[in-house]
Amino acid sequence: MKGNYIGGQWLDGVRAVPNVNPSDLRDVIGEFAQADAAQAREAVAAAYAAAPVWGQSTPQQRFDVLDRVGAELLARTQELGDLLAREEGKTLPEAIGEVTRAGQIFKFFAGEALRLRGDLLPSVRPGITVEVTREPLGVVTLITPWNFPIAIPAWKIAPALAFGNSVVFKPAELVPASAWALAEILSRSGLPSGAFNLVMGRGAEVGAALTEDPRVAGVSFTGSQTTGRRIAQSCAAHGIKFQLEMGGKNPLIVLDDADLSVAVNCAVQGAYYSTGQRCTATSRLIVTDGIHDRFVAAVVERLTQLKVGDARSPGVDIGPVVDERQLAIDMGYVASAKADAATLAFGGEHRQHDDQGRPGFFLTPALFTDTHAEMRINREEVFGPVATVLRARDLEQALALANDTAFGLSSGICTTSLRHASQFKRHAQAGMVMVNTPTAGADYHVPFGGRKASSMGAREQGSYASEFYTTVKTAYTAA
Ligand code: NAD
Repeated sequence: MKGNYIGGQWLDGVRAVPNVNPSDLRDVIGEFAQADAAQAREAVAAAYAAAPVWGQSTPQQRFDVLDRVGAELLARTQELGDLLAREEGKTLPEAIGEVTRAGQIFKFFAGEALRLRGDLLPSVRPGITVEVTREPLGVVTLITPWNFPIAIPAWKIAPALAFGNSVVFKPAELVPASAWALAEILSRSGLPSGAFNLVMGRGAEVGAALTEDPRVAGVSFTGSQTTGRRIAQSCAAHGIKFQLEMGGKNPLIVLDDADLSVAVNCAVQGAYYSTGQRCTATSRLIVTDGIHDRFVAAVVERLTQLKVGDARSPGVDIGPVVDERQLAIDMGYVASAKADAATLAFGGEHRQHDDQGRPGFFLTPALFTDTHAEMRINREEVFGPVATVLRARDLEQALALANDTAFGLSSGICTTSLRHASQFKRHAQAGMVMVNTPTAGADYHVPFGGRKASSMGAREQGSYASEFYTTVKTAYTAA
């Protein structure tokens, strides 16, 4: 059994659970410990004891730790990518890309540890100077979803440590192997005992305990809106700073003047790659009348060429759905769109085996046309390989449809008109806007996040990450 990492020790949990490959249900990757609330509190105690030690480390010490972790991730992209593809189900090239991204993030934040700035200002009163500096929060708990099992932990753990916080990391139940592998690298990185802790376990038990402990100063969460709102309530009640990144219902507008092949590529990439299991996945294709039929025909043609199957087999474009529960959710949305009289233009079929006979959670990419904004399929996040087409008259109507959602994470447009692109960038209600590039796919050195129901609190990534992971001190000195 692979254990939790608390106070510099590897410890058994209260139970062990098997981790199953969604591409082949006969393949058990390993047994992983699950903690209970008491063990989660032990991890908080260890982090609390280590907070003053790591909080006073030098920028060079922080740089060295993060740079070492980044270098090891980059040296092991094939092996860790294979593990990630095996437990989460994104394809091997996507999984290797994700591990590479995690390595790059650690390297970036190694540099950020050296670049933490403050301000020095003259006071409005004579003879006084004002210094504004940033200090660590203390203990932060990091709660992550299953869909990016190494990149999302990396973009929380790296800035947390770079700015001198101690960490309790609680990964999603479905992906303990990637989390454990990352924790194992961190355990050899030169951190003082307790500065980094891993507690695997159930959200309602372990996660909840980590959002109500008075020794925790901050909670950074990525996951569903329902869990996010629960965590916000708990943090508010216990006086804990929080940052939430949640779901999306991301639109891609395709205008008459779009380059058709660019638009088809953005739609197929954005909606279906990584099995549509990305918070930034395109789920609504908003297409103007003049290009609608050509666009739909070309997308369907591309979908017929995509191969669904084992995430680690060469030539597979779309791996399995992550588990049985998510598959049932996806199929429920397919049924709901059909019941609302949307036209199923392609896919939406559950397959119990891939073409090699492996039993897994396979689902062919689904495209619905003739849909309307009020349909349930256009209002709620699916989180699977399911997209819809909505018709629009012109850019103005398309923008209104794009913004007609509770969410606001990513929003895209395909157009060759600079005027249309500029208008879209100004009026799209989303944290990230994309022109002629898929709604999913972001850089790591700039802010990532959304607005409306998609996000709450400070942005993640890039130099903006210091907003959440530090607290500001204003010092007045009379000469
Ligand atoms: P989830 O909300 O079910 O779980 C996320 C994490 O929260 C898990 O670690 C889980 O164990 C934990 N958790 C569950 N209940 C908890 C509680 N009561 N207290 C504390 N922690 C608790 O989400 P998921 O199914 O793992 O991930 C899918 C969701 O994540 C989708 O909605 C997706 O859009 C979102 N997501 C958002 C982003 C983003 O950056 N905006 C990125 C990736 C995924």
